[in-house]
Amino acid sequence: MIVGGGIIGCSLAYHLTKLGRRDVLVLEQGRITSGTTWHAAGLVGQMRPTRTMTRMSRYGIELYRTLEAETGQATGWKACGSVNVASTPARVVELKRTVARARSFGVEIELISPSEAGRLWPLMRTDDLLAAVWLPGDGKANPADLTQALAKGARAGGARIREGVRVTGFIRKDGRVIGLETTGGQIACESVALCAGQWSRDLGRKAGATVPLHSAEHFYIVTKRIPGVTPDLPVMRDPDGFIYYKEEVGGLLMGGFEPVAKPWGMGGIPEGFEFQLLPEDWDQFEPLMRAAIHRTPCLETAEVRQLLNGPESFTPDGNFILGEAPGCRGLFVAAGFNSAGIANAGGAGRLLAEWIVGGEPSVDLWDVDIRRFAGFHGNRTHLRERTVETLGLHYAMRWPRYELKSVRPLRRSPLYDRLAAKGARFGARMGWERANYFAPGAGEIPYSYGRPGWLPYCLEEQRATREAVAVFDQTSFAKLMLQGRDALAVLQQLSANDVDVAPGRMVYTALLNARGGFESDLTVIRLGETAFLLITGTAQATRDADWITCHIGDAAAILTDVTSAWSVLSVMGPQTPALLARVSRDDLSEAALPQGATAEIDLGFARVRAARMSYVGGPGYELLVATDQCVTLYEALFAAGGDLGLRDAGYYTIDALRVEAGRRAWGAELGPDETPWEAGLAYAVNLDKAADFIGRAALLRQRAAGVNKRLLMFSLDDPGAYAWGGEPILMDGKNVGELTSAGYSRKYGRCLAMGYVRTVTPLADTALLGARYAIDIGGEVFAVTPYLKLP
Ligand SMILES: Cc1cc2nc3c(=O)[nH]c(=O)nc-3n(C[C@H](O)[C@H](O)[C@H](O)COP(=O)(O)OP(=O)(O)OC[C@H]3O[C@@H](n4cnc5c(N)ncnc54)[C@H](O)[C@@H]3O)c2cc1C
Repeated sequence: MIVGGGIIGCSLAYHLTKLGRRDVLVLEQGRITSGTTWHAAGLVGQMRPTRTMTRMSRYGIELYRTLEAETGQATGWKACGSVNVASTPARVVELKRTVARARSFGVEIELISPSEAGRLWPLMRTDDLLAAVWLPGDGKANPADLTQALAKGARAGGARIREGVRVTGFIRKDGRVIGLETTGGQIACESVALCAGQWSRDLGRKAGATVPLHSAEHFYIVTKRIPGVTPDLPVMRDPDGFIYYKEEVGGLLMGGFEPVAKPWGMGGIPEGFEFQLLPEDWDQFEPLMRAAIHRTPCLETAEVRQLLNGPESFTPDGNFILGEAPGCRGLFVAAGFNSAGIANAGGAGRLLAEWIVGGEPSVDLWDVDIRRFAGFHGNRTHLRERTVETLGLHYAMRWPRYELKSVRPLRRSPLYDRLAAKGARFGARMGWERANYFAPGAGEIPYSYGRPGWLPYCLEEQRATREAVAVFDQTSFAKLMLQGRDALAVLQQLSANDVDVAPGRMVYTALLNARGGFESDLTVIRLGETAFLLITGTAQATRDADWITCHIGDAAAILTDVTSAWSVLSVMGPQTPALLARVSRDDLSEAALPQGATAEIDLGFARVRAARMSYVGGPGYELLVATDQCVTLYEALFAAGGDLGLRDAGYYTIDALRVEAGRRAWGAELGPDETPWEAGLAYAVNLDKAADFIGRAALLRQRAAGVNKRLLMFSLDDPGAYAWGGEPILMDGKNVGELTSAGYSRKYGRCLAMGYVRTVTPLADTALLGARYAIDIGGEVFAVTPYLKLP
């Protein structure tokens, strides 16, 4: 059952029928396209930030190109290409980096001069431009026609579409959606897909699901005919002016993404909002109009037919929302398309159809996965304030390590105020404020693509960690408690490593899917016979909890998120044993507390669970302390550690040092599409353990067949080159992947990085390491030296 007959619902119906489902019913409260879809501008671009997302949007274009021939219904698809221009030096760098990534993803793209851009788009002023790119495969479509074509294709495949039926509630049983309440009566169903656009948040709430999106007013103008505007005029984007253009009936359609947006629908979407628009607001549109008159002076005298203002929904991070809602089995969501729903509909519809039919996503969809959010993201005040910022992200500079400003601070460690007073510059992850680095004075250090202004502070923190001792506040780690008679059995079935260890022991393990890919990697501490504490990545709290809960089934085990009950202080560096010896009477020697063991100890006045481990490499302990004793512990450490060189350090240092230490991170090196063999993490797997586990069969098959994708470490030969992650990797001159992480190492005096190398056939280590590697940083190619492990 699909709720919503916009482009997304119709695309999902189309793709479900392509996968052989005949029992597809679309319920639309108004008429097909009557929500947001009918008034979209219809720009369809290919480039997305990641390989998977770009593959998805390219699939969409392929579909739009052929859909008319398949269904006989016009779509308005035109492969007119697009020109994106840059008028600031930073944007030029961004364009060059886009060109490099596009080539790596197989997208046709060309860096062109301002005068070439002017030839492709003659109405544009080019004297202040610095560069442009040309994407011949981009295009435009008529959103309403395209949706009708998808609906026609779906009907031809057996789907039914009922208009004028509103879904008013959900029928649930044992945490599953089993039916819908509608204005046409109750309807039983196997699963429901919420494709209800801006209505999805409030509708999701009725089913107990968090669908964090909020509407904002969104504008474009349409002019009367302008001489020189022809139907094959490319789409043009001027992100420095926040504006875009396309041809529309011989005139120009010009719209944009103003940096300060105007949220709408705070009290909910009005009843009967069907084929409706919002009142014109020329004041809100003024910054866009000003930029447009500058870029296309013909607009000063052109006659404007309409200033269209239609609401569209935006999410807290600017990515759309896809997947099965955690805690609400059988309820799937595809919503919050951030003004890219036409471009993404083909791919998103197909991916969600595969997820529904296959029971799990067919590829890594983490960027858009609904499980990247938690309950607090559904707060409407939060959403309203964030939407003011997220609409503008569309054309904002995509600076490395960019941090959003709104709705902060939200989640705070007990140390937040202390760290702030010591110069912490915070970043936000899953709502948590986390110190990125510590610097004197106040104010933010400007973003850059090159060597960042904060690097000297990070290097000083690296020095302390490697030569003295540093404390990292890692309270934001997600912590899950699995308890019950069957807790061990559940965990053994999920874990690739053997977690049947003595109470007090700790195990690092992969949680794999049936393809052998990482659903998570986490640390398990066995607290007792029937109790396990799982410590996992900050961003993974909802996702991991959902994955585990889904697999508990009828077993006698219960999972509780205890994240906020515990703080984690990581004390790292060669002086750590000396420091801890000053504040604890307990024996923390290697003999008393070896690797893999944990112990409850006294530290200052606090009672702490200590583990000898280090994510950043070198000697160190992670200290798990009840949140209410975190400040006490921190004060005890600093009271004792001054002369040992103790200092605070932040996440930029963690990231640089973990790359130096070869530690993989979930979301960068690890994800559902990477197996332990590919990631070089065989130690997270125990194929000989007594219990079978999910992914084991796939790992055995892959071990026999060999892998065509391997994680390598790289050191940049040029100490002046700066990589951030995401840069394409060239193997003997050919694109083979992108960097997953990069960081500047004080020890090596240069950037180090990691990334997957894809080969046609499995390669032996010697052949793999024997190739010539380089990375492309915005069009400049830098030689790199490969390693399986750094010397
Ligand atoms: C001004 C503007 C310009 C845009 N330009 C572009 C562009 O150039 N390119 C691009 O890719 N995107 C663009 N977009 C974005 C695009 O229009 C949307 O992302 C897309 O239409 C979203 O489709 P949807 O199916 O999710 O939502 P909708 O089209 O809103 O469909 C949701 C449907 O659900 C129905 N519904 C809701 N509640 C219920 C219920 N309880 N029961 C039954 N039915 C229900 C609604 O009636 C509605 O028809 C633009 C948007 C705007 C506002």
